[in-house]
Amino acid sequence: MKYALITGASRGIGRAVALLLAEQYSIIINYHSNSECAQEVKQLIEEKGGHAELLPFDVADPKAIEAAIDCWEAAHPDEFISVLVNNAGIRRDNVMFMMSEDDWHSVLDTNMNGFFYITRRLLKHMMPRRHGGRIINMTSLSGLKGMPGQVNYSAAKAALIGATKALAQEVAPRNITVNAVAPGFIQTDMTKELPEDELKKLIPVGRFGKPEEVAAVVAFLASDAAAYVTGEVINVNGGLYT
Ligand code: NAD
Repeated sequence: MKYALITGASRGIGRAVALLLAEQYSIIINYHSNSECAQEVKQLIEEKGGHAELLPFDVADPKAIEAAIDCWEAAHPDEFISVLVNNAGIRRDNVMFMMSEDDWHSVLDTNMNGFFYITRRLLKHMMPRRHGGRIINMTSLSGLKGMPGQVNYSAAKAALIGATKALAQEVAPRNITVNAVAPGFIQTDMTKELPEDELKKLIPVGRFGKPEEVAAVVAFLASDAAAYVTGEVINVNGGLYT
């Protein structure tokens, strides 16, 4: 059985990705603190005939990641994880001159270092098994164009784009593709306090996106149809480029 591991899959975009990928893969639902919502995602997948497992860890904690994946491998000696979706992310917005060190470090730890810790561990899982793989990183419009009030978040998401392009070249001979998805404004808990009525006037399509619209692009990148796509960043932003 092929597995897909999605970080931060208890809600929002990660939840939509888990529900959609469950049509192609067995799903490993990573969550950090929200076990009730993660359990609900598992139940929804099972109700539709899919298979899902919960794997809690903090993506910013490399020891917890090592322990969780070691444990999963021991329990599944004949199975392999062929898709990793690095979706977990946080925002701690503030103007730079007011930004605390904690706001800076926590955003880089989760969004950027989290990518490094879990991807490194899963490459050690994928490479010796020689089944190839798919790594999909959730970046952001903020990482491409920079957003005022988000110097920490823009820096972390831009780093993910550089890492995506570099890693794609490293692991292409192993039949592992590495791509990024860059959402604009998507309706989730992360954006619920934003002034949607004002912001949607800036978006050519005229509305915020839905988590399912991001999940559809992730599902394409995870599919066999995307075998020749690597090192790419796909925007899902309703035309909001500037
Ligand atoms: P969300 O806040 O609804 O979900 C984020 C998920 O990440 C939550 O389940 C949360 O528990 C999890 N998470 C946070 N820190 C974690 C950690 N240390 N370890 C494990 N899990 C952790 O937000 P969302 O909108 O669904 O965001 C998903 C991804 O998409 C994020 O990387 C975000 O930066 C990115 N993104 C979102 C938007 C948007 O408009 N919503 C736009 C661009 C990019």
